[in-house]
Amino acid sequence: MPPDVVTMDKIVSLTKRRGFVFPSSEIYGGLGSSYDYGHYGVLLKNNVKDQWWRAMLQERDDIVALDSAIIQHPTTWKASGHLEGFTDPLVDCRTCKLRFRADKLEDSQCGRKPSKHPGETPECDLTEAREFNLMFETTIGPVKEEGSTVYLRPETAQGIFLNFRNYLQFSRKKPPFGIAQIGKSFRNEITTGNFIFRTREFEQMELEYFVPPEEAEQWFQTWLSARMDWYTRLGIRADHLRLRAHDAEELSHYSSATSDVEYLFPIGWSELEGIAYRGDFDLTQHSRYSGQKLEYVDSVAGRRYVPHVIEPSAGVDRTMLAFLVDAYDEDELEDEKRTVLRLHPSIAPIKVAVLPLVRKDGQPELASGVYRELRELVQAEYDEGGTIGRRYRRQDEIGTPWAVTIDHQTLEDRTVTLRDRDSIAQDRIAIDALGEEIERRLRAPWRSPKLGASP
Ligand code: ATP
Repeated sequence: MPPDVVTMDKIVSLTKRRGFVFPSSEIYGGLGSSYDYGHYGVLLKNNVKDQWWRAMLQERDDIVALDSAIIQHPTTWKASGHLEGFTDPLVDCRTCKLRFRADKLEDSQCGRKPSKHPGETPECDLTEAREFNLMFETTIGPVKEEGSTVYLRPETAQGIFLNFRNYLQFSRKKPPFGIAQIGKSFRNEITTGNFIFRTREFEQMELEYFVPPEEAEQWFQTWLSARMDWYTRLGIRADHLRLRAHDAEELSHYSSATSDVEYLFPIGWSELEGIAYRGDFDLTQHSRYSGQKLEYVDSVAGRRYVPHVIEPSAGVDRTMLAFLVDAYDEDELEDEKRTVLRLHPSIAPIKVAVLPLVRKDGQPELASGVYRELRELVQAEYDEGGTIGRRYRRQDEIGTPWAVTIDHQTLEDRTVTLRDRDSIAQDRIAIDALGEEIERRLRAPWRSPKLGASP
């Protein structure tokens, strides 16, 4: 198999050029590590989120959805331990004036490693580590001094715990059951970077799965494999994914076991998702601080207990980056270099492009009719500008799995060609059968062509 051609620079440049991701506030010189998602970025991100919702809600009956507020009662963060413990150790280098996370020095350019020092100075001179809280603070009320301090949530999970009682009442669920949510989180990260891998504002997809304490270990294992499956089902190469268990020092304040799903990014193996066994820490803490009972009463078994929690927590932006990295490919077609995103069809921003071969002879009219029909079914795009080869390349570059071409023959027998992004095969097919064929292909199993021919 040829070596992977992808680098982070290529992803940054492709996504900017094709309107997936823009550096934020660029006309004012940019704001470090802040990004805006453009048209194809929004479509891609929505597909990632839709697939997550699908796996959590549509394919199961033990999980319900939530969309909680970003700003919650400030006591939330006392109870959750974030005010006290959601800190990273910060060190400054007196020589190079850069700031680092002490626990990630190995990955940084500094870290008393003269050869890696950005300014090639002989020796870095690091301060002692200071703990730095990652929560963004703001105030409620128009006058800052009189307002009460609140926080932008650093994780979506706490909104779920605060609603636990509501869900017991309205959903009548009995553990094991889960509450899932997708939403923005904010962290005043010391070191950001690597594009959308680590930013201060990002989206999370989190599930809190409540279980009877004695079933926790079994459910932890179940969720580890369910989450690995989700990525591979959506085409991520299995040899670029792994599970890594945290050792004792690495565990968060709330967790007694955590494993990370890691992906082999161009920056090396890095966390994509954390799957934590949180015990009864959160419900017990919120119960203590609120004075409300947060427990499940099993009247049949005559037993009451605080459920234990398994939490798979993934970043939308990081997952999107992994899909892009895994899909990025370059090859040669008709002596021309081609950049192609080999995305799983259900993740691809555009499913089908409709292209008239020439801009005359009634082809554009016929093509736009086909386009209007297909867009009822899937996200489609119409393009009549430039040579057909260029238009195929444009679609390949944004990962569109199929292209429909309307040509001279279409006018005679109402058939079109259906081109496949990965195999380049072109099938002749009746216009009337197109919709069904595209839906059939969307449902069919898909395997990354980057894996080579052998299964
Ligand atoms: P890291 O060590 O990489 O900062 P973390 O262990 O602090 O991550 P968690 O608190 O477990 O992250 O959050 C769950 C998920 O949310 C992560 O696996 C990641 O996908 C995403 N995430 C966390 N922080 C960020 C961030 N600053 N930018 C983008 N995504 C993030």
